Amino acid sequence: MSSVQGERDYELTPQRAEFPRVDPWIERESDALLLLDDAGRVAALNPSAARLLGRRREELLGQVLGIPLQGASAVELVVRRADGSRTTVEMRSLCDDGGRRWLRLRDVSTLVSTRDELEEARERNSLVEGSSNDGIWVWDLKSDRAHFSARWRELIGQPTEGLDDSIAEWLDRVHPEDRERVQQELRAHIDGRSPRLECEHRLRHHSGTWRWMLARGAVSRASDGAARLFAGSLTDISHRKAAEDQLAHRSFYDALTELPNRALFHDRLRHALRRASRRSDYVFAVLFLDLDRFKVINDSLGHFAGDRLLVMIARRLELSLRPGDSVARLGGDEFAILLDDIRDASDAVKVAERVQTELAAPFNIGGQELFVSSSIGIATSLSGYQRPEDVLRDADTAMYRAKGSGRARHALFDTAMHAHAVQQLEIERDLRRAVERHEMRVHYQPIVSLASGRISGFEALVRWTHPERGPISPAQFIPIAEETGLIVPLGRWVLRQACMELAAWQRRLGNPRACTMSVNLSSKQLNQPDLAHQIAQILVETGIAGEELQLEITESAILEHPDAAKTILLKLKELGLKLSIDDFGTGYSSLAYLQRFPIDSLKIDRSFVQHVGRGAENDDARIARTIVMIGRNLGKSVVAEGIETEAQLALMRSVECDHAQGYLFSKAVDGDRALALLTSGPTW
Ligand code: C2E
Ligand code: MG
Ligand code: MG
Repeated sequence: MSSVQGERDYELTPQRAEFPRVDPWIERESDALLLLDDAGRVAALNPSAARLLGRRREELLGQVLGIPLQGASAVELVVRRADGSRTTVEMRSLCDDGGRRWLRLRDVSTLVSTRDELEEARERNSLVEGSSNDGIWVWDLKSDRAHFSARWRELIGQPTEGLDDSIAEWLDRVHPEDRERVQQELRAHIDGRSPRLECEHRLRHHSGTWRWMLARGAVSRASDGAARLFAGSLTDISHRKAAEDQLAHRSFYDALTELPNRALFHDRLRHALRRASRRSDYVFAVLFLDLDRFKVINDSLGHFAGDRLLVMIARRLELSLRPGDSVARLGGDEFAILLDDIRDASDAVKVAERVQTELAAPFNIGGQELFVSSSIGIATSLSGYQRPEDVLRDADTAMYRAKGSGRARHALFDTAMHAHAVQQLEIERDLRRAVERHEMRVHYQPIVSLASGRISGFEALVRWTHPERGPISPAQFIPIAEETGLIVPLGRWVLRQACMELAAWQRRLGNPRACTMSVNLSSKQLNQPDLAHQIAQILVETGIAGEELQLEITESAILEHPDAAKTILLKLKELGLKLSIDDFGTGYSSLAYLQRFPIDSLKIDRSFVQHVGRGAENDDARIARTIVMIGRNLGKSVVAEGIETEAQLALMRSVECDHAQGYLFSKAVDGDRALALLTSGPTW
């Protein structure tokens, strides 16, 4: 800011003169204009000039202005008027085409007083300014000069070096990406389109780094509304921004793997969809990747190892992609990959294969080699999606299909799958009403004691006859019931039915120890804290003794929450119940591991028995034999599932398996026929 030139007042000294003719246009000029002759006398002036100087025209004409004029630059001077008042004038000397010298005067007194006030305020605040964290800036819009406080200069790392009195010192340091916005916001406030300036932007520090700043300010306006002075503060908000960035990062990135999370992936997918809707030649694909049996790794090696593995997988996934593609962690062991700008589905399939090959190489975790496989579902934009969630849903459906067809596979979503997905939804919908509509029945399959050849118990198996679709296999609807949680009420219903049936048989036979009843228990049921209480109630209601009820639980159900499972299993044992591991051998657990749980028996999965007796003894038969022997050594009773042939039965007998179950004896039948089997007492 320039200071008022001198403190001395300029007197206007009268002199004798002749007056040249003056162009009439100056009369109409609103600016104060004075024409000087060669001797520096006032040769002409317009009414504005007379008004500004506070004298009559005749008084001024011919006077010599004792003003030092330095070239074309403006000078500021205080003029004393005839009435004694003073005013500050900015005077600029100009030459016209004819070589005549003009003075253009401007009243800057209000500006100066504002400036003086500001100066005063600044002085008053200099202590504050010096100690405050905010830099102060003042921009005189008329003269286009700017002042920056010492603290302001400090903020940009140039506390001592002089800056020009130009607003460019600020704007030139603004980050190129922010500059236009800052300029727009300054302009908006100057033009009166915003109540005040409040603008965050990055500013280049002298060290070359970028700092986040908050500029706040307001203009003072003349009575006509024109902005005169723009003044405000500058605050370094880099710390706050960093914290905000971190927060934003946390809401868009997975903390463990640092990959984008589901929210960010959705966002990218939305962009891809928008592009696909604009450009017919743009195709993208989403790969939905789920690790096979990750839970088992997590449960057996611990969460720390599981986490390490997920991070390593994330890095491998990143490496196996092209620059434009992106990978995200959707949660747990689920990842999603967006393949940008591919030609067709076969490109996506190739990437899926490449990813699976990459993941197939062993991972070294704590000196231990781990092998991982993954199932991948693929959906492409060729299906014409509108919403990100639909793309992910179909890729997810395809992934389930891939898993279902054996692990370590990939599958491309197609319309048949869509139909299947729709059917699943319908089943889910109908399943909700099935029990109340009496569409569910419980059938009973005998379990035979191999020592006596007699039926020692039954396994309750639920049956659903759909009013339109006919019988639906439990293999189809039980997983849906588990996924939706419907298994909880359904399982309770089956349990009560089975116990009521057994009680009815006991009454008919007059024998309370006729046989046992086995009921399947899903993992969802096992997770109910009041399960033991529920079962105790059913036992009381039906009069069945705890020892007569056997619960079949899969390894994976136990391993889902091993600690919670153990607590619940112990409570069930307190009721006297028998517990058995269903489908044993299909999971990952070792017998030694299961030893930690209060288990009474093992049911060897059907797949181990299937090949027995069909030609040479193969691995499965050998494993079945081993399981039976180990189980017996651990004091567990062993049940062979899926016995269909005499040869299978003979083998199981020869290895002293305790019980057997299978079509050779009987399929699951309704309660009446089961009772008939029990009373007719066939022996095998
Ligand atoms: P699971 O508990 O392993 O039941 C044995 C399955 O093998 C039954 O199939 C049975 O019909 C079948 N099976 C028995 N013997 C043979 C044989 O000799 N050969 C062949 N090929 N199959 C045989 P199902 O009834 O279709 O049930 C399938 C699965 O659904 C069950 O496997 C069980 O996990 C589940 N499930 C059935 N009912 C219930 C229930 O009430 N609650 C729960 N949570 N799950 C149930
Ligand atoms: Mg079972
Ligand atoms: Mg089974």
